[in-house]
Amino acid sequence: MTRRAGWRLLCVGLAIGCRRGEPPAARPASAVFVTVDTLRADHLGFAGYPRDTSPHLDALAREGTAFPGAYSVSATTGASHASLFTSLYPHEHGVVANRQRFPRGLATLMRALRGRGYRTAGFVSSVVVGRKMGLQDEFDHFDDQGTTAELNRPQRPERPAAATLEAAAAHLAGLPADMPFFLWAHLIDPHGPYAAPEEPDRFVGDAHASPRPLLLPIGSADWVMGRIPAYQVLGDRREADFYVARYDAEIRYADEALGRFFARLRQIGRWDDTLVVVTADHGETLAEPGHKRYFAHGTITYDEVVRIPLVVREPHGQRRLAPAAADAGQAVTSLDVAPTVLDLLGQPPEPAFRGRSLLRGARPAAPVFSFGAYGTELLEKTIGTQFSVLEGPWRYVVNSQDGSEELYDHRDDAAESRNVAVQQPARRAALRAALAGLRSESRREAQAVEMTAEHHQALRALGYVQ
Ligand SMILES: [Zn+2]
Repeated sequence: MTRRAGWRLLCVGLAIGCRRGEPPAARPASAVFVTVDTLRADHLGFAGYPRDTSPHLDALAREGTAFPGAYSVSATTGASHASLFTSLYPHEHGVVANRQRFPRGLATLMRALRGRGYRTAGFVSSVVVGRKMGLQDEFDHFDDQGTTAELNRPQRPERPAAATLEAAAAHLAGLPADMPFFLWAHLIDPHGPYAAPEEPDRFVGDAHASPRPLLLPIGSADWVMGRIPAYQVLGDRREADFYVARYDAEIRYADEALGRFFARLRQIGRWDDTLVVVTADHGETLAEPGHKRYFAHGTITYDEVVRIPLVVREPHGQRRLAPAAADAGQAVTSLDVAPTVLDLLGQPPEPAFRGRSLLRGARPAAPVFSFGAYGTELLEKTIGTQFSVLEGPWRYVVNSQDGSEELYDHRDDAAESRNVAVQQPARRAALRAALAGLRSESRREAQAVEMTAEHHQALRALGYVQ
């Protein structure tokens, strides 16, 4: 049945609300919400990256709106996704590290839409956001089928972007034509180890490689300082450039799969009236000078880890968000994403959401807080984690192991390579107080973090257990 015929039948059946001669009201806009795990904001073509990593996302950004200053409130996968869905900080929703269950009973973006007639579905590519996290309870349909195993950690099932998005497209093609939907697709590809299923070496040795290769020592565990983490090691390769090129090829692979998925949406007639949002849970430290860890995230809150891409392509060719994105000095956070999606879909706001719709114009400048995984002594004292605040051009970082502080001035140090904490005691104290204020808020009881094989490995490597 065509969509038009369907509407005609609906009008006949209801016999109300469809006056003769008037076209039926359009179905509500649907939404595709894509989170690309570990995707740095600055390695995308539309953000000015010199490698051709993202032709399809570049096209999406041209058709829609890209926010250059978007930040995740968490550097770790489970907590960050929980914040995207609940518009709450980790201490408010209670997921402060991976391996914690998503709490029941919170207001979420997908629950809000499900209550308003949307069919909701989640398609994920990693066990970290799979059924063990409990996210299946938030969706009408949830698919976390793993088809492959992570290269160096076979206990972690995952699924390449092409397979995840193929399953998502098949699901959408099977929906009734008039059914509005909210579909979340999580892609794991840029997450290490960097071994793209297609053309993994496409950027290796190209013109963007450094003429003086930096050789890094290989680590024997995952949370190691100044070494390549064990789970990231590719053969006996030690050149930083090689890993960066391989990371970029993962981005390109995910981008190609997204391009095919967007083409499928057009084929099934679901492109024009679907809102498309692409963002990330966090970025990745690659080989930034002075940043203590290489090819890592989770416990790191420097800019390259907490700044995330945010591309919003509105339905029906609208560009209502363009003024908000044009305010380049305005930082937005992952807490703002869920309220913005509701607003763009014409749905009422959800009172429990802490963030704010980006359709509502500029807000007073406010600090942006980002948290590394925390909540256990292992993470905070043994492995070490970071908490950070960005306010205007200043980023303040505190390290949980020893309380050491860092301060960076983005006006002349966007790469956060020169710590000026000693030279700026007043600024440091103000940002420390802002962070302490947020952390002193009442917390939702966090659930125990389940110890994993990687945790045990880290403890062994650090000499804590045999
Ligand atoms: Zn992640």
